[in-house]
Amino acid sequence: MAAGVAGIAAYGAAYPRSQLFGSTVCRTNSPRKLALTFDDGPNPKITPKLLDLLDRFRARATFFIIGKHARECPDLLKETAARGHVVGNHTDAHPNLFWLKPDQITVELRCCNYSIIAATGAASRWFRPPFGFRNPWVVPVARELKQRVVMWTLIPGDWRATSSEWLIPRMGPIAERAQRNLNAAGAANGAASMGDILCLHDGSHRQLNADRLPTLAALEHWLPRWRDLGLEFVTIDEAVSTPAT
Ligand SMILES: [Zn+2]
Repeated sequence: MAAGVAGIAAYGAAYPRSQLFGSTVCRTNSPRKLALTFDDGPNPKITPKLLDLLDRFRARATFFIIGKHARECPDLLKETAARGHVVGNHTDAHPNLFWLKPDQITVELRCCNYSIIAATGAASRWFRPPFGFRNPWVVPVARELKQRVVMWTLIPGDWRATSSEWLIPRMGPIAERAQRNLNAAGAANGAASMGDILCLHDGSHRQLNADRLPTLAALEHWLPRWRDLGLEFVTIDEAVSTPAT
């Protein structure tokens, strides 16, 4: 019994599509929409290059930033928002929320939000919990602060990547699903009315100037291929708004 309860708690805490601890956004509302999300920035070493790469493909993305990093480089965060991307809350210091009480979670979200407002002038409407870990209080606290919790459909583990050769095949499921869902046969079969949310990292919660060059190189490989498959790169706002007809 104890093992069963622990198992359920672990499932609710970490399984990205679990709704056990409250409603979360864990897919886009159209197979044509791919939501690119980047966690653990801003990162002066990587984010400026990433913004240029995204511009080349007219891609808009969502950046779940860490408050303490944002205070080190507010201008970079301001530029990220000014270039059309959505900024989301990823806590102030990246703790595992599973162990925190509601008031501690509130402080983490509020401090990050202050840093976002200070840099961009606007509050975040989106929140992603560090490590994907939730407990029964995370979603209600976020909701009270007018933020919806965002998870993912694919997390290829780019923080472990030492090369793009390692990372590129781990991002392959996006193209495989798009091929299946966007062709005529897929449509006739009532293809899944959902699209992917990809979780990548432009920074690290351990340090400010982390090396995420394999992530950039893997995106450089996939962005033109995803575009040619007919995928549109959307922010998380667009991911849940009315689907394009
Ligand atoms: Zn993180």
